[in-house]
Amino acid sequence: MDEEKRARFVEWSCNVFVDVFWYFGVPRLWSLYYEAGVSWDEASRRIVMCRGKVMDSMWHWIQQDRRVDLNNIHFLQRRPELRQRAECQRYVCPHPLPPATILLNEICYLDPPEYAILEFCRAFNRLMTHSNQYGNLKYSAFLSVTLCCVEQKLGNKVLKRTWGGSVPLPKHLREIYIKHAARWIWHPIVSLPILISLDQTEEGEPLLGKVRVVPENQPILSCRAFQFHQGGWYRSSSEPKRPPLQGVKLVPPCSQCKDMFPSHDPTTGKGVGYVQYKKNPLGDARHKWCRGNCAEVTAFSDMFYQLELKCHVVNGDANKVLAKYKMDKMPRAKFVKKTNQL
Ligand SMILES: [Zn+2]
Repeated sequence: MDEEKRARFVEWSCNVFVDVFWYFGVPRLWSLYYEAGVSWDEASRRIVMCRGKVMDSMWHWIQQDRRVDLNNIHFLQRRPELRQRAECQRYVCPHPLPPATILLNEICYLDPPEYAILEFCRAFNRLMTHSNQYGNLKYSAFLSVTLCCVEQKLGNKVLKRTWGGSVPLPKHLREIYIKHAARWIWHPIVSLPILISLDQTEEGEPLLGKVRVVPENQPILSCRAFQFHQGGWYRSSSEPKRPPLQGVKLVPPCSQCKDMFPSHDPTTGKGVGYVQYKKNPLGDARHKWCRGNCAEVTAFSDMFYQLELKCHVVNGDANKVLAKYKMDKMPRAKFVKKTNQL
């Protein structure tokens, strides 16, 4: 796609997102707050804050593409008084989370049941999918096509649950965000392997070779990934009485993530890892490392933060690895043990 065409696609994707967010997302947020029993005052305070953050983030991200023209943004045509604020967002540093990530985090803060999150995302994605006269589908680049849920359980009781979506940005902006998030946002168990995998020789070999990052006191986690398909359906095992959700499909997790967060099946005793995957990816992903655009990365990173999980660097020197990516002075470095023994 040439650069001008790409910028028009970003503008179109933004117009679609903003309309769906404003006329469906915000009203639906109100009802989720109501269902969660949040007071009207608290709900309106949070919604105004969330709406502001989502819009500011959108203005920031579209303008990271220098060819995007704010004159083509419908919302700003209708609200010219917001134009100046939108322009300033271009220079905001550090990068904010993508707009749809801010929205998903706001919903997860309410900790609604699984079906409520899936229903919301299904509707949001459907509204952001348009078909032309030939029936070809066109998706806004600001939606998450995959969601991932990671849980820490004790028997059937869920102790902790985190959600993540695949990076909801156009491809060229996604790359900027992933580099930023790997350095500044994600937990080291997630971000170090991604930084290492982005750092390759021209032949595609990782510069740091066989370095691995392994959690200390491995937790027992379970992981499920979902995609929004026209044909699929999903019946939640935690709510078997509810009718199945049409257009939601349980899918295998990102195969590279399964390599980063290895699996263990407690019923058969197979595997040396710590994650139980609901479905298994096809093929063998050995030695291919995740490049950070999948839903698993955010969901695992949030879980590791919640568990305050520490990790070791194996086949490498932790201090050198942290220094190489200028993470040694960051507060997040405290999660990386400086000795190499397990
Ligand atoms: Zn992945």
